Amino acid sequence: MVIAKARAVDGPNKAFHTTEIQRRDLDTHDVLIEIKYAGICHSDIHTAHGDWGEVNYPLVPGHEIAGIVTNVGPEVTSYKAGDRVGVGCMVDSCGVCKNCQQGEEQYCLEGNVPTYAGVDKYGEPTQGGYSTHIVVTEDFVLRIPDNIGLDVAAPLLCAGITTYSPLNHWNAGPGKKVAVVGMGGLGHMAVKIANAMGAEVTVLSQTLNKQEDGLQFGAVNYFATSDAQTFEKLSGTFDLMINTVSADIDINAYLSLLTLDGTLVNVGAPSQPLPVHVFSLIPHRRSFAGSMIGGIRETQEMLDFCAKHDIAPNIEVISADQIDDAYERVMASKVKYRFVIDISTI
Ligand code: NAP
Ligand code: ZN
Repeated sequence: MVIAKARAVDGPNKAFHTTEIQRRDLDTHDVLIEIKYAGICHSDIHTAHGDWGEVNYPLVPGHEIAGIVTNVGPEVTSYKAGDRVGVGCMVDSCGVCKNCQQGEEQYCLEGNVPTYAGVDKYGEPTQGGYSTHIVVTEDFVLRIPDNIGLDVAAPLLCAGITTYSPLNHWNAGPGKKVAVVGMGGLGHMAVKIANAMGAEVTVLSQTLNKQEDGLQFGAVNYFATSDAQTFEKLSGTFDLMINTVSADIDINAYLSLLTLDGTLVNVGAPSQPLPVHVFSLIPHRRSFAGSMIGGIRETQEMLDFCAKHDIAPNIEVISADQIDDAYERVMASKVKYRFVIDISTI
C-alpha cells in the first residue's frame, strides 16, 4: 500500500486542503506512477461543484496526469520503472464488450471506471491526479513521447484527446472548414490539432480578446459571438463545428452556421439541456452530435500526432495551494489556456 499526499475538496463550495489517500498494492498488471503534473479540466470543476449530480467527498479530482513509473506488478510487460507515462479520464473498463473490443473503452457498455469519482473493480472509490501517486492497470497507461515535456503532456490526456477524437472521427482535414466554439483548455487544443490536420479553422469566442492567440494557434478566422452580425455573416459556412463551451448557449444559432450535411459536435458538458429546434437540422440535413474523450489506442495516436507535429498546450504551472484561485479563473474564462499543478508542491 502506498500512502499518497493529495489535494482534496470536502463539498461543492469548500476550499481544497492537503490530505493522505491510500493507493492499492500492485496487482499483477498494475503500474505505480509518481505523478509530476496534473492539469485542471473544467470537468474537475463541474464534478467538485456537484454540477452533474451528487458525488462522494472528499474528492481528489484530476484526470490529466503525467509522471514517471516507479514500480510495476509481476506480469506487467508494457512499462518499467523510469518510463514517462500519462493517465487520462478512465482507469479501467470491462475489456470484453463490443465497444471495448473496438478500442472505444470510453463507451464501455458496463461503464468505464473514471479516474476519480468512480468505483474500481475492487469496490473502492477512485481518486484522481491532484496527488503524488496513482496505481493504474497497464492497459490504461499511455506512453509520453520523449519530445513532449511532462508539464505540457498532462493536458493532452483530456483536452487533447477530447478534441482530437471528434476531429478525427468527422474527418477534419484539407478542404474542410472547421469552427471551434469557445477557446479555453479544450478549444485551444482543438484549434492546434484541426490546423495540423490540414483543416481551415475559425474560432468563435465570446469576444475578440484572445484573437491574436487564436491566429497564432493556427486559426485563419476569429469572430466574436457577442456580435450578432457574426451569425449572419457565417450562416451555412462550416462542415464541422466543435462546441467546447462549458455553459448552455443558444445551440440553434450555432447550428445555423453549418453547411449542407455539416455536423456540430458537443464536447462541452453543461448541466442544463440545450434545446434543439428540429428546423435547425432538417433544412440542410445537419447533424448535432456528442463525443466523449477517446479510446486508449486513439489517445496514444493523439500523443504521437502531437509529438510529430510539435503540438503542445499553452499552460500556466501553479502550486498546489493555488487550485481554488485557478478554479475561479477558469470559471471566469480567464485561463490561458490550461492550469497545470506542479505536484511536487503538495
Ligand atoms: P474552459 O477552459 O473553461 O473553456 C470553456 C470555454 O467556453 C471558455 O474559455 C469560453 O471561451 C467559453 N465559455 C465559457 N462560458 C461561456 C458562456 N457562458 N457563453 C459562451 N462561451 C462560454 O473549459 P474546458 O476545460 O475546455 O472544458 C470545456 C467543457 O468541456 C466543460 O464543460 C467540460 O466539462 C467539458 N469536457 C467534456 C469532455 C468530453 O469528453 N466530452 C472532456 C473534457 C471536458 P471563450 O472565452 O473563447 O468564449
Ligand atoms: Zn477533462
